[in-house]
Amino acid sequence: MTCYPDKSLTVSAGWLIDGTGSPLARDIQLDISDGRIVSISDRDDGQVKCRETMDLSHCTIIPGLIDCHVHLSMPGNEDRSFRDSQLNNSYDDIRRVIAGHLMEHSGYGVVALRDGGDHKGHALRYRDEYLIKGRAGVVIKAAGRAWHAQGRYGSLIGRSPLYGLDLAQSISLIKDIPDHIKIINSGLNSLSEFGKETPAQFDPGQLGRAVKEGKKLGLKTMVHANGQQAVKIAIDAGCHSIEHGFFMGDENLGVMAEKGCIWVPTAITMEAYSRIFRPGTPEYDIAKKNLDSQLKQISMAIQYGVNIAVGTDSGSPGVHHGKAVHEEIRLFMSAGYTIEGAVRCASFEGAKLLGLEETAGLLTPGMPAVFIAVRGGPESLPDSLGNIETVFSQHRAG
Ligand SMILES: [Zn+2]
Repeated sequence: MTCYPDKSLTVSAGWLIDGTGSPLARDIQLDISDGRIVSISDRDDGQVKCRETMDLSHCTIIPGLIDCHVHLSMPGNEDRSFRDSQLNNSYDDIRRVIAGHLMEHSGYGVVALRDGGDHKGHALRYRDEYLIKGRAGVVIKAAGRAWHAQGRYGSLIGRSPLYGLDLAQSISLIKDIPDHIKIINSGLNSLSEFGKETPAQFDPGQLGRAVKEGKKLGLKTMVHANGQQAVKIAIDAGCHSIEHGFFMGDENLGVMAEKGCIWVPTAITMEAYSRIFRPGTPEYDIAKKNLDSQLKQISMAIQYGVNIAVGTDSGSPGVHHGKAVHEEIRLFMSAGYTIEGAVRCASFEGAKLLGLEETAGLLTPGMPAVFIAVRGGPESLPDSLGNIETVFSQHRAG
């Protein structure tokens, strides 16, 4: 159920996780006026009777979730041929697919997401056409078509630089201005050889100039990179986030912590592969090892103080829109995050990355009251995320 309250309201909650990463609060009330949180205090059952109230005393409330890496044009279908057949679909066909994916995100408590690109830029077009209508109430930030080097991985979600021009020059000529730039700087992770690195797609000069060009347009750059070399080039280029970052190594993690570069590990992609392949096959074993390796890197990143945001790569094989956010939160907790820390990664860290820190990600006084309520106490999380009682929002998160 989604509620669209009017003016003043007091929400009585059993537990509050506010998105800052601070320890949760017990038995609180949120006073809300015109959709914004006015105050958070200990629950006063005498006082709340004087106002319109919402009783969520049996629930834990957390900020609306943010998925920092999705592909809205692609289904998380496990059948590769079905997924690939979607590639050449027209915008009119894909429009319905995107609308369905947004409904799924909304149902799982996702209030904002960042699209990492598609072959024809359909998600960006959808964002433009539905920006005002706000279908499903989910904020879309879209990259349009991603950039990859000629002849290298990436045509599935983008294009290579224009003929005769380098990456930065090509970015400078973008007509449909996206919300951020997406650059692919390595290949995919191998499922036949554990830890195999692919060469970087762009050299330090090319990538550095491209990130700078994005900044000139007022845009952040997200870089798909796996392996030490490809990740190092992306960090040195000044990119804002490393996507995936499998096998990047401790040294890169240390530099990311220093520079404030955000990491979006998309660990769920490997768990999804381990569900697709039969146990005993090489692909199954390597997907499992890739996942373990990534969870170890996340543990190390927590120690180093790297800012990590939840992103799922939804639309990849077996990675389903909306649901995967809950799964990534569970994986973050298995890597060492507390529930408060994991929620911060799935809310406030994402809000900062998407430029929504004024409107989403935190449940603190002054912020819009955009939250989800799940039955039970914090001990039931993250499993209880699968059973959301209420998504509360007076308006969209951005
Ligand atoms: Zn992706």
